[in-house]
Amino acid sequence: MSVYCLGSINIDHVYRLKTLPLAGETLSATGYQPGLGGKGVNQSIAALRAGAAVTHIGAVGQGDAWIARALAEHGVAMDCIAAVDRPTGHAIVAVDDAGENQIIIYSGANLAQDPALIEAVLAKAHPGDILLLQNETSHQLEAAKAARARGMKVFYSAAPFALDPLRAVLPHVTHLLVNAGEARALTEATGTPLHAQPVEAIIVTHGAEGAEWVTPGGEPLFVPAFKVTPVDTTGAGDCFAGSLAAALDYGASKSEALRYAAAAAALQVTRPGAAPAMPLKSEVQALLH
Ligand code: ATP
Repeated sequence: MSVYCLGSINIDHVYRLKTLPLAGETLSATGYQPGLGGKGVNQSIAALRAGAAVTHIGAVGQGDAWIARALAEHGVAMDCIAAVDRPTGHAIVAVDDAGENQIIIYSGANLAQDPALIEAVLAKAHPGDILLLQNETSHQLEAAKAARARGMKVFYSAAPFALDPLRAVLPHVTHLLVNAGEARALTEATGTPLHAQPVEAIIVTHGAEGAEWVTPGGEPLFVPAFKVTPVDTTGAGDCFAGSLAAALDYGASKSEALRYAAAAAALQVTRPGAAPAMPLKSEVQALLH
């Protein structure tokens, strides 16, 4: 079986400053570090490190050597990543000495996905393969429809949360992934409780408490989080999503997959960064045994 991911690819430009700039102010940064980011590619890297065969579908700016190098370093193949006439998606992150931040996101190429490429890649998928989607790219709906037509499972992370794209894609989603805040926003906006949403399963993550698998009409299954001392929780949800998909893809049961994803995300939050912090399968298995 295989995991496919139509997902965002960003460069995070992280600047360190003594204080954050005020309107009209120019400040010199004390440090600069570029890093690979984007919910989509984070999820692909988590699934790759969990041992899944992963095909990442995405779009970046033409001739972007930095992103090509960063993807290669993380083992993400470029064959299904289009080079388009827009800048690679990026985030400008300013962090001050107190740890406060300001972030500007420019979606760029992530909103210029190639529908013919998506169609061609998914045409090679098999029934039961998993497609991961998040709300950071264009063409989510077309991809979800094409995947369902091939009998694939469609996992949708409703983040960043926005009701209109979620409503549009939901009829084509089998597994909906939300954190506790997104779950609340969804039930409030639709007036429909989680267990009555029109999907096979809803997976709700509750940060340091754990995660829950809700099956409409069935008993919810709760797995507590592993006790760790977090240093950086950025990307915990993406680690959980990619790891869960990989575990289910290699045949784990619901409860085994939840435990695998909880262990992976627990390790991920003990390390700085998002993509580089995703743990290897061997590390997760060591925590589980
Ligand atoms: P983020 O936006 O930071 O990527 P999220 O809000 O999407 O995260 P969370 O619910 O915060 O997702 O976390 C996802 C999973 O990661 C949790 O269900 C849990 O398994 C694990 N996790 C997160 N924080 C911790 C923590 N402090 N200790 C242990 N596990 C954690």
